Amino acid sequence: MTTELDNIELRPARRRFLKGVAALATTLIAPGVMLYKTAAAGTSDRQLRWGLLIDTNALSEADVDACVDACQREHGLKAEADSTTAAQWIRKVKLTDVESGHERFLPMMCQHCEDPPCVDVCPTGASFKRADGIVLVNKHTCIGCRYCMMACPYKARSFIHENLKDQLAVAPRGKGTVESCTLCVHRVDRDGANAVPACAEAVNRDGRRAILFGNLNDPQSEISQRLRELGAVRLRADMGLNPGVRYQGL
Ligand code: SF4
Ligand code: SF4
Repeated sequence: MTTELDNIELRPARRRFLKGVAALATTLIAPGVMLYKTAAAGTSDRQLRWGLLIDTNALSEADVDACVDACQREHGLKAEADSTTAAQWIRKVKLTDVESGHERFLPMMCQHCEDPPCVDVCPTGASFKRADGIVLVNKHTCIGCRYCMMACPYKARSFIHENLKDQLAVAPRGKGTVESCTLCVHRVDRDGANAVPACAEAVNRDGRRAILFGNLNDPQSEISQRLRELGAVRLRADMGLNPGVRYQGL
């Protein structure tokens, strides 16, 4: 039996056209930011899963504020920071021990889930996961239905209500679309395993490594070694989404 797929394979001209479309699909969304490609040379997609390890013991409230601030500056979110609906890709979360009153602060951003419900519910495919585990929104195909916002159990996504100004080339945005933490994908695509997301850069001072970025699937990476040595938790691990962001000290 001949299927439509077989026909595509048999027609060179059409194949060339489709290859062109595929090539287009691997570029775009921002200068240096690929939709589907991974940037770590010599590493196959299956070996690669970028993640963050956040040591809450090392973070003060001021540090978490610094994370939020750095993320806003990095992505040009600051322009409408005074608006009540301002974008905030990281939320500052306060945990209080009811017995002792001890307070702890942590940054909460998109958890870059292995099985992201935000991707499952998106009717246009705008919400997608790259081969390297980073979950993104393609603003060109997002229709603003906000299904992904409802599906995200971490409340990690926000909707752009405002007219935008002072946009940055590394983080193009669109009024009427949804957005969330990109794991600083423009830095990842530029620097690969040496990338340091803006939130990590803001708090890793004086030799302290409060937020680590790295390949969770490489047993030799610093993040994997630290996880092996000290352990960490996935927030709401019971949901089975296997987030790429892990927390120590909780
Ligand atoms: Fe999607 Fe929310 Fe998971 Fe991020 S945290 S990948 S937005 S479900
Ligand atoms: Fe924001 Fe980048 Fe940190 Fe994500 S990794 S929260 S985009 S600063």
